[in-house]
Amino acid sequence: MNKSRTLLTNIRTISTPVGNKPIAGAAMAQIATIPEAYILISGERIMAIGPMEELIRSPEIYRNTTLVHCENCCVLPAFVDSHTHAVFGPGRESEFVDRIRGYSYAEIAQRGGGILQSAAKLQQIDEKALCDYALPRVIELMSNGSTVIEIKSGYGLTIDAEMKILRVARSIAEQLPITIKTTLLGAHAIPVEYQQNRQGYLQLVCEQMIPRAVDEGLADYVDVFCEAGFFTPQETEQVLAAGLKYGLKGRVHANQMSHSGGILAGIAQGALSVDHLEYVSEADIAALLASNTLPTLLPAAAFFLSLPYPPARQLIDAGLPVVLATDFNPGSSPTTSMPFVMALACIVLRMLPEEALTAATINGAASLELAQDYGSVEVGKYADFIITKPGTHLHTIPYYFNTSAIGQVYRHGARVY
Ligand SMILES: [Zn+2]
Repeated sequence: MNKSRTLLTNIRTISTPVGNKPIAGAAMAQIATIPEAYILISGERIMAIGPMEELIRSPEIYRNTTLVHCENCCVLPAFVDSHTHAVFGPGRESEFVDRIRGYSYAEIAQRGGGILQSAAKLQQIDEKALCDYALPRVIELMSNGSTVIEIKSGYGLTIDAEMKILRVARSIAEQLPITIKTTLLGAHAIPVEYQQNRQGYLQLVCEQMIPRAVDEGLADYVDVFCEAGFFTPQETEQVLAAGLKYGLKGRVHANQMSHSGGILAGIAQGALSVDHLEYVSEADIAALLASNTLPTLLPAAAFFLSLPYPPARQLIDAGLPVVLATDFNPGSSPTTSMPFVMALACIVLRMLPEEALTAATINGAASLELAQDYGSVEVGKYADFIITKPGTHLHTIPYYFNTSAIGQVYRHGARVY
């Protein structure tokens, strides 16, 4: 096969985590920094990385390549956004204004807003229109440097509507140059018609939605919103166990607004990731350390809802492999920007930029079981990376927190932004 070859020259610095496993604790800050470097891409993957002097000694590397000059620019791995709800109908700006007027997130949900409002709207939208809503949002995610994302359902809450969201998520991966993993989040909220019959809805999720999503090849994972007013730890375990029965590993929305028990429920069922973690106890940390479940932090949601932030420093200092993601969704985190999430991680959570990069790349890839192929700039991996704007570098991203440092985005060896 005649693979196209691209040669990036004069890269000021390549900054990247290394390896194909989640990186924990103090090692999160130990990224590789390669000055004055080149990257050779063959087809979709990175074939060689080295110092510029090597090109002078071995000029044959230039042969049959398309040159990309990167003077004064840095290269970072593209972001892996392991937690989004990117497929939804219209935004929820009116609810946003309600919140400014003083209603809490829980009160808005009780008034029939929130997730239930999104679900009612989404059930009325046909698949084509839903895709039209989602595509530009996913392009926004890409322009912010993400080349791998996870998309959850959860704004349908009926079998048909949940499958519709997952089908749209799958179709986006065929229409755009992006890698997408999908998660069935039927247990996002109890629909109005099941408020007096919780077990009835749980049975629908466990015995109908999960097998249907698996039969149609629509879901890679299953997720549950474990929180007071949503699903209990026991119900969370029930759904995660049903997922495992059909071959879907779990993810959990855990401990966002209280010590909900979601972290322990997720660990008990071998979940890949427990996400949010605004409320974390010593027992939760001990259980995470004894498990392979990754703690994923979504600080943009805490920012948008003016809620307490997750204790990132405590988790990293305890030796855990923290993950960062956007939680992009219309109700609590309407941002597609991993750079903004990194900024919050540095400014508010007191993570070092190097730790934030590790959390936003290789650790996110590990949470989606893709760390063999994504999450770092290394020989053999897919050529998914960001070329920063001239004069900018890793630390610029969180520092100029509202100015994009992203110059170009490559995915599988081709420029996509
Ligand atoms: Zn979420």
